[in-house]
Amino acid sequence: EAKKNGRNGYHFFSLQLAEQAERRHRMEINLRSALKEGEMQLVYQPQIDLGKVRITGMEALLRWQSPEEGTISPARFIPLAEETGLIYPLGEWVLQQACRQGAIWQKTEASPLCVAVNLSAKQFHQPDLAKNIKKILRETGLSPHLLELEITESVFLENMEAAIEALTELKKLGVQFSIDDFGTGYSSLSYLKKLPIDRIKIAQEFVRDIDTDDGDKAIIKATIAMAKSLGMKLIAEGVENHQQLAFLLLHGCHAMQGYYFAKPMPAQEVPSFIHSETCFKLALQE
Ligand code: C2E
Ligand code: MG
Ligand code: MG
Ligand code: MG
Repeated sequence: EAKKNGRNGYHFFSLQLAEQAERRHRMEINLRSALKEGEMQLVYQPQIDLGKVRITGMEALLRWQSPEEGTISPARFIPLAEETGLIYPLGEWVLQQACRQGAIWQKTEASPLCVAVNLSAKQFHQPDLAKNIKKILRETGLSPHLLELEITESVFLENMEAAIEALTELKKLGVQFSIDDFGTGYSSLSYLKKLPIDRIKIAQEFVRDIDTDDGDKAIIKATIAMAKSLGMKLIAEGVENHQQLAFLLLHGCHAMQGYYFAKPMPAQEVPSFIHSETCFKLALQE
């Protein structure tokens, strides 16, 4: 009896695996053509500084409108893009689009607006990244200091020396760097003092349960204190309500990003969002 179940179990398992592999394979094929077919789009989420009462930046977030599956989250296709090497053309496209958009805002908006671009670890480690970014900045006319590159701690896991070198080379261009999802990786903190990092992004994971989780409160307070003493800027991600906002302000983190202020939006909606100033009115409530 047990043997039979085992066999059935095995059979079922391998069937599932085969289906999974098949789905993945189809997605890879579709991903290959998605760029050409114009199925990729960038949306932008505002980054708000409540201390300066200014919208300081927009994070570019990738969306895939697949005719087969509808909108596919980057959390699903970025890992596949990384495994297959498709992240290189895709990442370059993202940089081009975001810098082009940033250059438009640089001309049309009264106060400076940074554009933040996510770089995956593989992209960060590609040898000609600095050269590519330099070229894109030149072609689009975006001021380097208005480009912020978001990297995660994972870029320091494999080859610390190579990461330092890449970062230093890119910093020479004048671009800014932030650590995304700070505190969720496994790297040691010692890299922070060695690297020219401008800003730390407090991960959504710690912001989510601020109200109820004393551990998360402690981690956020410690992160704020550490960033300040290292002379780094800060922003909190995933702010969804007023209690979270109040806690962050109370402890000295004035820059925030999250659904409470705005969900990611198409570029054409950005100017009216900025000029409506709704996010500052929101912050004053309660
Ligand atoms: P991330 O860079 O940490 O971006 C934050 C994610 O949280 C985004 O999801 C954003 O839409 C979402 N978010 C923002 N505010 C809130 C909030 O208040 N509540 C909740 N629940 N979520 C919020 P998204 O756009 O699905 O992106 C997921 C991840 O995919 C990003 O995490 C980033 O790591 C990656 N990604 C997105 N675009 C790109 C890209 O162009 N290149 C690369 N390499 N990775 C990208
Ligand atoms: Mg990010
Ligand atoms: Mg993040
Ligand atoms: Mg992330």
